[in-house]
Parts: sequence; structure tokens; C-alpha cells
Amino acid sequence: MQNQTVKQEGALLHKKVEDIKLYINGQFVEAKSGSTIENVNPFTNEAINLTAEGRQEDIKNAVEAAKDAFEKGPWGYMKQSERMKYINRIADLIDEESAELAYLESLDTGLPIAQTKKMAARAAENFRFYARMVESRLHGESYPVGDEFINYTVYKPLGPVGLITPWNAPFMLTTWKVAPALATGNTVILKPAELSPLTANKLAEIIHKAGVPEGVFNVVHGYGETAGASLVAHPDVKAISFTGETVTGSTIMKNAADTLKKTSMELGGKSPLIVFEDADFDKALDAAVWGIFSFNGERCTANSRVFLHKNIKDRFIAALKERVENIIIGDPLSGSTQLGPLIDQGHFNKVTQYIEIAKQEGCEVIQGNVPEEFSKGNFVPPTLLLNAKNEMKVCQEEIFGPVMAVIEFESEEEVVRAANDVKYGLAGYVWTNDIKRGHRVAQAIDAGMIWINAQNVRDLRIPFGGMKQSGLGREGGHYAIFEFYTEPKAIHVAIGDIHIPQFGKKK
Ligand code: NAD
Repeated sequence: MQNQTVKQEGALLHKKVEDIKLYINGQFVEAKSGSTIENVNPFTNEAINLTAEGRQEDIKNAVEAAKDAFEKGPWGYMKQSERMKYINRIADLIDEESAELAYLESLDTGLPIAQTKKMAARAAENFRFYARMVESRLHGESYPVGDEFINYTVYKPLGPVGLITPWNAPFMLTTWKVAPALATGNTVILKPAELSPLTANKLAEIIHKAGVPEGVFNVVHGYGETAGASLVAHPDVKAISFTGETVTGSTIMKNAADTLKKTSMELGGKSPLIVFEDADFDKALDAAVWGIFSFNGERCTANSRVFLHKNIKDRFIAALKERVENIIIGDPLSGSTQLGPLIDQGHFNKVTQYIEIAKQEGCEVIQGNVPEEFSKGNFVPPTLLLNAKNEMKVCQEEIFGPVMAVIEFESEEEVVRAANDVKYGLAGYVWTNDIKRGHRVAQAIDAGMIWINAQNVRDLRIPFGGMKQSGLGREGGHYAIFEFYTEPKAIHVAIGDIHIPQFGKKK
């Protein structure tokens, strides 16, 4: 089995990536305008392929297909057990294609392949999970009202829904949305990030192969301001689930208001990791390093602000410096790589500018080394910003790269105040062996998700999402299916001889 996988990956390395089209109404089609976007490899900055650039007209066609598939097609009315066969089949096909999915994702985004392999496995599990969740949990309530009525609820899919996704972990994040949307009976128009289109098309191929009826799942590539904005504005799209930057989320909410759409917002973060002096030092160190340098630091829940108690600060920083020097920087397609290149040159410039700002703000900057042979890629070495203060720009704004700001603290009260003194509220991490303090601090931090003495691992049943400017609504678990992808319908039935006021009846 081991040998087979290695052979498969070897073959993939030499496979040319085809130009990709839009997927509308069960067919792979060119964009109406004929325009394309050049898709660039972050490791070499050379073109990988061309992607069809969808615009308003293509969105219109995709929405029409999704509307027809919902209203006339079998999807919305299909027996639940029948629909779940498709969902489970998609999961099986993802598993079968996982080596290629991981390869494409690494090629497209620069994420190390050891990490994209795990994401592909998780993506398959997202579909299986939602098949189970819908079958076991998506039921309404029923209330007998005396012996006169029964009131009950059923949960109905919304119709065509728009899913807009970012480039930082595209396949896994896309399946968080596609799986619950389809499992609950909606039809989908996916607008993937323009910088990472490859696995979205692979998902379309998989869904096609699974025999899902035409129009149920559609992919329109293109830029946010054109394809994305048209999707948000379209009156037949019932809801938009968005993951991306806070500013984009706010624009989408404004635009969605014109057609009164439901929106779900998974946005940026600037999450604190707090290490108290009694913490398990080695574990806290592993978690702090992994939490900011995995996914190349392009991780919404990254612990980009690390607060160290003053009594352990020097020792912790010495250990951080050693780790930063030794993180394996390299080709994202090499199995041993721990840190790859950033998604594109624009993002590289943004991250390096923040490192310059950190110097101007008075931080001591410590970095690993990018080997000379990788100079063509968008590599930012693992970076520590020492002597950081929470009020600095580099501690307040999302950098979204492998950059950790290190801040000293003395008291619990002080660190909680500083951790919360930021506009974001996505995640937080607390390291202490004092169980009461762990809970106290976890409760006090304004964030949607907190881990105590653990790195960012999550059971799919638990809600995912942020407070403050990190988002509105939650994905995951039953939250996605009850709060977003379905609507409750209340049905009131008279079962007794009821009294109805008799207006206008002559006595
Ligand atoms: P982005 O906001 O630039 O783009 C995200 C998507 O929105 C892309 O598909 C883009 O084309 C589209 N878009 C842009 N403008 C639009 C518009 N006016 N109308 C409709 N669509 C539009 O984000 P990004 O740079 O791709 O991703 C990085 C960001 O995503 C970071 O801020 C990160 O924290 C956030 N993120 C959040 C989570 C979470 O769950 N909270 C997860 C991953 C990433």
C-alpha cells in the first residue's frame, strides 16, 4: 500500500495540469466572454494552467441551472436516504482521488503536501459526517397543544445557495460548505478563490462521477468583484456562505441586503495563545509553533499573538528561536516540507511589509533562512516579532503569514485584557496546569473557539466560527444544517373540535 501511494505521487509529479472550465448544469464549459485567468505556481511563479473567467452571464446560467434542479429536478424532493447515497459516494470518490487532490492543492497553493493529504482525508469525512448528521438529526419538533392541536416543524432546504471560498485551505473549507448544503437538499453555485481554482474543479469532476443530477452543483470561477458580486446580487440565490477577509465579508453583507439574503460569515482572526508559567512547557511550545507555521501561516485560527508569562519568557523565546531555525522550508510537493511559499506575490509583499512595520514599531525580528535554491518562490521564512506590544499595528491587524508576535505579560487580568483588546474574536489558546484558571481564562476571552492545553483540533460536531469582526454564524455540527442551510416551517394542525371566532355570523 505504501509503495503504491509513492508510485502514484511520482506519476502525478509529471502530470500536466489541464486548463480548467466552469461547471454549469452538469457540463464543463468555457466562460461566455472567453476570458481566462492565468493560474500561477507559488513555488516557481510560473504558470500552471489557465482558468475560465466567469462573469455575470455565467453566474446567471449557473443560478438558472441550480434553480431548475431545485424546483423541477429530483434533488429537493428526493428521499433523504436516496440523497445520502450520493453524499456518501462523493466521500468515497474523494478518498479514491485523495492523492491527486493533495497534489493539486499543494501545487496550487504552496501548502506542504503532508498537510494537504490530511485535508483531503478530512474533506471526505465532511461528506460522511453530514450524511450521518442529516439522517440522524435533521428532524423537527412536535407539540401537542391540549387535545385540540398538534404543532410541528419540518426543516426545508433554502434553494440555490452561493458558496464563496478563500484560497488558504480551499478544498477542506469548500467541503465544509458543500457537504451540508447538498446533504440538506439545496443546490449550489460555488465561486472559488481566483488564486486556487484546481481542487474546486476536481470536486466538480467527483460530483459528476458520483452521478449527482445536473444543475445541483455548479462551479463558476472568476474574480470576486465580478463573478462573486454577481452571485451575491442575484435575486434567485437564497443565501451566501462566505469565508474570507473581514472587509470582503462586510461588502458582501451590504450587497446581500438588497435581495434580503441570509449570510454566513467566517472572517479573519488575530488569535491569542497564552502560556502561563505553570504550563506544560514542551507541549505549549509545540502547539505555539505548529499553530502559526502550519498552513504556511495562512490560517484563520493561527495563534499570531503569543503571550508569555514573564517568568518563562526567556526560556520560551530561546526554544522558539531554535524551532524557527530548524523548520524545514521547501518544495510543497516534498513530503518532508513543513513550510512552503505564500500563495502569490501580492500576499508575499503584504506579509513582508508587515515585517518591516514591526521593525519600525520596535520589534526585534528573528527569522529562519530560506535556502537560496528556492528564491523563485514566494517564501517568507518563519518569523518571530520579539518585544511586541499588543497595541502595535502588527498585533492588531491580520498578517496571515508565518509571523508570530511575542508579548510578555505578568498577571492573568492583564493578559485577558490584552487578548481581548483586538477587533477579532475567532480563536484562543490557553496553556496552564491550573484547571480553574484554564476555564476562567477560556470563559473570559472573547472568541468563538478556545482550546485549553491543546492545539487546534476539532470534532466536526462542535461549532466553528468567530465573534466580533471574525464572523457571524457558525459552521459545523448541527449549526450548519439548522441555522443556515435549512429553514424551519411550522405546521399547525387541528385535531379536535376547535372554537373559531365567528365574525359576521348572525346570532
Ligand atoms: P478574500 O476576502 O480576499 O476572498 C475570499 C473570496 O471572496 C474569494 O473567492 C474572492 O474572489 C471573493 N470575493 C472578493 N470580493 C468579493 C465581492 N465583492 N463579492 C463577492 N465575493 C468576493 O479572502 P482570501 O484572501 O481569499 O482569504 C484569506 C482570508 O480568509 C483571511 O482573512 C482569513 O482569516 C480568512 N479565513 C477565514 C476563515 C474562517 O473560518 N473564519 C477560514 C479561512 C480563511
